[in-house]
Amino acid sequence: MKLPLAYYGDPMLRKKGVAVEVIDDEIRQLVRDMVDTMIEHNGIGLAAPQVHRSLDIFITAAPNKQPDGSWKPGELRVFINTKILFVSEEKESTSEGCLSIPTLYAEVVRPVKIRIHATDLDGNEFEEEFSGLEARDILHENDHVNGVLFVDRIQGKERKEIEPKLREIKKTYYQKK
Ligand SMILES: [Zn+2]
Repeated sequence: MKLPLAYYGDPMLRKKGVAVEVIDDEIRQLVRDMVDTMIEHNGIGLAAPQVHRSLDIFITAAPNKQPDGSWKPGELRVFINTKILFVSEEKESTSEGCLSIPTLYAEVVRPVKIRIHATDLDGNEFEEEFSGLEARDILHENDHVNGVLFVDRIQGKERKEIEPKLREIKKTYYQKK
């Protein structure tokens, strides 16, 4: 079932997600609904606060670049109670968007490689390394769980430039309710 999204300006997006203690039917249903919501909006990631649930859960489906240069939709992954263990000093800048901030795309600098610890939907804890778009996707979604939005990572002149657009998005998507 598709869930309503929280949009820029909604205080829900600024709350820190609570750690999940037990993965029960309610959590499994929430994750299924998050998957439906992400697919419906053509997203490549979604965090629980974006569907008004203040929990340490996010999903990703980062596309993979094929040897022939085309992009294939990535594997669906579920991350619960995620801890970032390592980020590379090497960083890169790529354009990002967010389902909670529709129509805005901007360059964000993030580490190229990360190592994380998390729990999957079966309750298994795992440690894994990610790089490139997958790492970026995880960092973007993990930020959501900590009340941080990608626009917070843009500073100076670039941030000033997107400020009017952010006010407009808040008016159009959040305050119209
Ligand atoms: Zn987002």
